[in-house]
Amino acid sequence: MKAELISVGTELLMGYVVNSNASDIAKQLLAIGIGTYYQQTVGDNWERISQALALAHSRSDLVILTGGLGPTHDDITKQVVAAFVGTTLEEDPRQLAKLNQHLAHEGRECAPIDLLQVLTLKGGKALWNAYGLACGSVYQHEGVTYILLPGPPYEMNQMLKQEVLPELAKQLGKQEAMESLYLNFFGIGESKLAQILAQPIAEQSNPTLGLYAKPRHIAVRLTANAATSQGAHALNQALAQELIALAGDYYMGQGEDFDFAGYVIEKMADQGQRLVSLEGFTYGQLASRLRQQDPEAAVYQRGYIQEVTEANLETSLASLSQDLAQDTFCLVNYQLNQEEAMLILITPSGQRLERPVYLGQRPYQVQASIVVYEGLSLLNKQLS
Ligand code: ATP
Ligand code: MG
Repeated sequence: MKAELISVGTELLMGYVVNSNASDIAKQLLAIGIGTYYQQTVGDNWERISQALALAHSRSDLVILTGGLGPTHDDITKQVVAAFVGTTLEEDPRQLAKLNQHLAHEGRECAPIDLLQVLTLKGGKALWNAYGLACGSVYQHEGVTYILLPGPPYEMNQMLKQEVLPELAKQLGKQEAMESLYLNFFGIGESKLAQILAQPIAEQSNPTLGLYAKPRHIAVRLTANAATSQGAHALNQALAQELIALAGDYYMGQGEDFDFAGYVIEKMADQGQRLVSLEGFTYGQLASRLRQQDPEAAVYQRGYIQEVTEANLETSLASLSQDLAQDTFCLVNYQLNQEEAMLILITPSGQRLERPVYLGQRPYQVQASIVVYEGLSLLNKQLS
């Protein structure tokens, strides 16, 4: 099944709003085995939406539109699709009841313009909007399925998850399954990892491989097709073992949302270790990462943000002495010069490890994420 997404909204074309809907939908379709082959973005314009529909109709089996279902004059998606497939619009009684209830709460009369959002394509099926007032629609036309979803991302995601994906998954039940697996490698550059994995990358067919690079972190996505989801899972796992055997030194774990800070926290928890931090360069970014992974403060006790320089380093460290219990590590960073930051790790036995980190000419945000990673990495090496 070939899917195509049409994102409607002039604000998307102008770059004021990032098209998160297209990304969310494509990822979730892929998770149930549907590939997205094309994406189009058009403004709130009758003629251009019609052209986008004609193109999508000529090449895709499933066309998902987002945006323009609301009551304002620039919301025309339903009207254009109705004209394109040759139907009319009618009110969805369930969404109309919700609208009336909403208006009653607000003490407002129902204006004709309000009713536009509860219109759906006649001859199709209305989709319930749990978080908003505009209903979505599904409509079959000449073998192509059209799905209309609202623009606001939280409304769109809720409708997609509740109303659309289960139905699509059921239709696909008899067909083949597609599954993705993510492997996370840290402390290695993309080109070096690509070199180590050159053979499996060159020979890939099923699963396919994709590398996604962030500073000091590369996720490798494996995507397999098989008759069943267990079959696809087994194909992914077999190739994963092969890749881990080749690049195991840098491999940290599986999962799309794998977090290196979480990995280190878990390891410290297992070993009964604790951690405090002092950030003179990353200004709370390390603390924020660690606290997200350890909200109960089982491992990560507390973090200080402070101006730290070579000159005040010793007094800064001395002020931490009451935090340094027997089983506690202390991770410190500060700016050394224009090109380098300094990392210091004080181990529970009082040993002090120092490591300068080269920052290069990069935006501060990237430099900070590198220092966070290198600090966690220094700590991780002391734990194993
Ligand atoms: P409403 O009933 O709120 O008018 P709608 O279905 O008519 O919803 P739009 O008017 O197109 O949708 O957009 C509503 C909001 O959702 C806007 O803030 C818009 O920026 C945002 N939005 C629309 N499309 C997308 C998209 N593809 N990705 C992210 N945000 C989007
Ligand atoms: Mg709108």
